[in-house]
Amino acid sequence: MSFDSATLSWRCMICDLERLDSRISVVTSWMVRGEDEPHPIYFKQNVLHCNDNPSCIKEATTKIIVGHSRKIPVSEVPERYRFI
Ligand SMILES: [Zn+2]
Repeated sequence: MSFDSATLSWRCMICDLERLDSRISVVTSWMVRGEDEPHPIYFKQNVLHCNDNPSCIKEATTKIIVGHSRKIPVSEVPERYRFI
């Protein structure tokens, strides 16, 4: 098996189409889950999306993959999590 960047592809997480690597971008956001619990979980969410489809680009900025979580600015992320 060999790696060929010309045929590398990803699935858009908005429209679900398989696209070539050059047509896919990623929106990375900090998230928190369980804010009302003793130990909230902080994590990064990556949303792969078509970079040539305006509706995919727009939806990728607001999509939430994990239920009961919300996007937060990095300033709300405790220092010890920021290495991830
Ligand atoms: Zn798409």
